[in-house]
Amino acid sequence: MKTRTVKHIAKSSHERVGFNFTVRRPLPSAGLKQIDPFLMLDHFGPFYQKPNEQGGVSEHPHRGFETVTIMLEGQVEHRDSSGGHGTLKAGDVQWMTAGSGLIHSEMPPDEFRKTGGTVHGIQLWVNLPKRDKMTKPHYQDISAAQIPVVKSEDGKSVVRVIAGEAFGVKGAAETHTKVIALHLMLEPQSRTEIKVPADFSAFAYIMQGQADFENGGMAKESELALFENDGDGVAVKNAGEETLNMLLLAGEPIGEPVVSYGPFVMNSPEEIHQAIEDYQSGRMG
Ligand code: MN
Repeated sequence: MKTRTVKHIAKSSHERVGFNFTVRRPLPSAGLKQIDPFLMLDHFGPFYQKPNEQGGVSEHPHRGFETVTIMLEGQVEHRDSSGGHGTLKAGDVQWMTAGSGLIHSEMPPDEFRKTGGTVHGIQLWVNLPKRDKMTKPHYQDISAAQIPVVKSEDGKSVVRVIAGEAFGVKGAAETHTKVIALHLMLEPQSRTEIKVPADFSAFAYIMQGQADFENGGMAKESELALFENDGDGVAVKNAGEETLNMLLLAGEPIGEPVVSYGPFVMNSPEEIHQAIEDYQSGRMG
């Protein structure tokens, strides 16, 4: 395996979304509009939600892409305009295909709101190719137990295979284009190598700790490391003194024009105008 070098380190901006909700956002960021097929990555929390405090994000639409929510702590309940409903708990993943569009809310469930608690997670936006942008909306609610876990022999490196493949193990989520989504947890000094096809875009996002990608590339908490297309794998070592908690994301580039406006991501300005009109006239979801 030839491991890739780091091309760019992106720092997160701090953005406010929903009620009382601040996220770290390394993608998009200065000098990094998208990493085809990945459009956005938001890291929410960890923060403590006080008992009876409002939280989450109220009703809003999406069209033309997928939202992937990875819960690390706390809970989120989603409800949508077509009656779709589910609750994500720590370790669970929701892979939502917005497709032709829906209106949904992402809120703490009532029970959780009453007691309060720590909320921590990731929301990733994955683009859809033109052929699938108007597909029927679809959810994959994937519980932590359904996500394959690959452990090293010494138990010091753990990889949760959310999508794609790692170490010959297939991930839990179905995807529209070829996507690899892995959640890595490495103890100090442990190291692993992951296969990533040479033509895939690839990046890592550090949720906690310090990563050494060898070949001179390092990244720490809140930073995104974008890899060059100069190898068929990624090597990572925990260079810090705490657990390294990291996402590795890779995908086959879609290579189509991207025209986005807030929660709508299409291929042309006309399709964006149509999305706004459909939403405003109640024809979405
Ligand atoms: Mn949403």
